[in-house]
Amino acid sequence: MDSQAGPGSGDYVALEARHGARNYQPVPVVVDRALDCLVWDVEGREYIDMMGAYSAVSHGHLHPRLVAAARAQLERVAVTSRAYYGTTLGPFLARLCSLAGFERALPMNTGAEAVETAIKCARRWGYRVKGIPDGQAVILVARGNFHGRTSTIVGFSSEPSYRDGFGPFAPGFRHFDFGDMASVRAAAGPDTCAVLVEPIQGEAGVIVPPPGFFRELREWCTRERVLLIDDEVQAGLGRTGRWFAFEHEGMRPDALVLGKALGGGLLPVSAFLADEPVMGVFDPGSHGSTFGGNALAAAVALEGLRVLQEERLVERAAELGPYLMGRLKDVQRAARPLIRDVRGRGLWVGVDIDPAQGSARRLVEQLAQRGVLSKETHETVIRFAPPLTITPALIDRAVDIFRQVALQAIRR
Ligand SMILES: *Cc1c(COP(=O)(O)O)cnc(C)c1O
Repeated sequence: MDSQAGPGSGDYVALEARHGARNYQPVPVVVDRALDCLVWDVEGREYIDMMGAYSAVSHGHLHPRLVAAARAQLERVAVTSRAYYGTTLGPFLARLCSLAGFERALPMNTGAEAVETAIKCARRWGYRVKGIPDGQAVILVARGNFHGRTSTIVGFSSEPSYRDGFGPFAPGFRHFDFGDMASVRAAAGPDTCAVLVEPIQGEAGVIVPPPGFFRELREWCTRERVLLIDDEVQAGLGRTGRWFAFEHEGMRPDALVLGKALGGGLLPVSAFLADEPVMGVFDPGSHGSTFGGNALAAAVALEGLRVLQEERLVERAAELGPYLMGRLKDVQRAARPLIRDVRGRGLWVGVDIDPAQGSARRLVEQLAQRGVLSKETHETVIRFAPPLTITPALIDRAVDIFRQVALQAIRR
């Protein structure tokens, strides 16, 4: 490294490439600083963050109220483990339960841990409440799902690259086609304890379910005594223009999984929520996490919920989502046949690229070169999920650049 000029972006890329495991293929941008919807690289180049860390930065980077809440808590206590009570966890859980409409919440750290919590809860509920013979409980999951990266969770992924070489996998999961009730019914049996499903499949490419699917699924789950577990780790907390995506479907799940934005863009905070008849299957010793619900995390998450509410960020997503979508559809019309589809809900849009016409990854890299951060998923979809604090002016700037990049691609 050049000691006079200081290390440059290339040096940091080289260090990660040399010493990190190769489990990611990052877009070559080295983020050094960020504030709200903007980030800057080591050389001081500015980027609009249209990715929002997969929904983890819904409040914008380093929201001043969240930084202040973290600082204040850091003057008191950060981590004690759950061996004791604290002054931030109770208020956080109370607020979260009241917002989501559930009686109880169990705090964890990452989304995958909250999903694991859901799996354990559903199985125990299946044995103790539904009366399924021990060891036989089955959870139905959608093809194309994404629920995290633990060995149990990737075991029921339908994506080969997430699974290859990581077996043997835990039994007790069966697949159905997302959005297809007939397929749910065909996959089910007397030992089915739960359906675990995303309200919109994010990693699969922002796949919105057909209208009515969730209402039918809700009715079927009630009839068959099957828990409907809604994984809103990515969709929840305002992303879709409602506090929770299930509100669009006119139904209420039996349990809810939250993460990502719950940590206010500062910390990993997740939670599993349910009412007493379901959450009641956990007794002391049955589940836990050293860091889950720690004082610092709870203080930040509580302030994060207040900020979403007081700054009306959910309403903002509801207003600006259709604006972003409309502008991207204009680009689609201008850049046919490169863009096959533009879909999503709220500030969460997938732009589906025809692989015969162009590469989503190339477009993402060209966007980055021109100062717009996004990320491809499944090789053909470019995902836009900016902080909910994004402004119309920044959307315009980002979409104008996307238009240039798309038009250049079709001219080639
Ligand atoms: C990101 C995500 C997870 C996993 O969360 P991590 O914090 O990465 O463990 C689970 N479910 C959904 C729907 C997600 O988008």
